[in-house]
Amino acid sequence: MQISTAATFCSAAIVALSVWPLAQQRGRPQDTEVWEPVPAVVTPGATDSAPPSDAIVLFDGTNLDQWVSTADKSAAQWTVANGVLTVNKRAGNIETKRSFTSYQLHMEWRIPGNITGADQARGNSGVFLASTGRGDAGYELQILDSYNNKTYVNGQAGSLYKQAIPLVNAMRKPGEWQTYDVVWIAPRFNDDGSVRTRAYVTAFHNGVLIQHHVELKGETLYIGTPAYKKYDAAPIKLQAHGDPSPAISFRNIWVRELPPS
Ligand code: MG
Repeated sequence: MQISTAATFCSAAIVALSVWPLAQQRGRPQDTEVWEPVPAVVTPGATDSAPPSDAIVLFDGTNLDQWVSTADKSAAQWTVANGVLTVNKRAGNIETKRSFTSYQLHMEWRIPGNITGADQARGNSGVFLASTGRGDAGYELQILDSYNNKTYVNGQAGSLYKQAIPLVNAMRKPGEWQTYDVVWIAPRFNDDGSVRTRAYVTAFHNGVLIQHHVELKGETLYIGTPAYKKYDAAPIKLQAHGDPSPAISFRNIWVRELPPS
């Protein structure tokens, strides 16, 4: 019985070897080793939320030097206190002085513990991954209190507003800090304005994957069908939403530029 089993195994192994591609039988491990280009060394932060050595810090808790008002590019008028940036709804949206194409973004935000309102009128803000003009022009990743707050699901926290529902709801309670970690692959355009490659978004909310390589249909629209509009590089914008609920806050915002897609 044992001899018979061994014989069966041997004949099976011979059959397997005989169909194995000849080149792989003759190859060496070194044939598939790649030694260049050597990746640049990046020193990580003390924690995974802290900016790594190649990050551009957009807000470190001290000032708004990296930001301007979207409406007229004047100094940003949101409130900085105790290491935290709080929306000034009357001052309108703010955006970075710098413009970006593709990047990795980290940001932290907090719905206040005394939040009021419901649906879209409860802690509404947003991060526009590319600000392509005044007001809310651009591509919005929604910020909202979505902790036990019913709204249309393609408008809840973590949605790519009116284009992509988050995979799950990873929301923490009001009063607690939330994180967004986002990979934005910027759209690219031909000289005639037509789209060469569309925009893609991958996002984590509090470390949980909520958007996985989502292809966007175009810029965010409140009403109507999204469409692309040619741009080369764009600021990152934070939304001062007009709802009457208490203002939300941000901290620890940094970005790492990525090579063109
Ligand atoms: Mg919003």
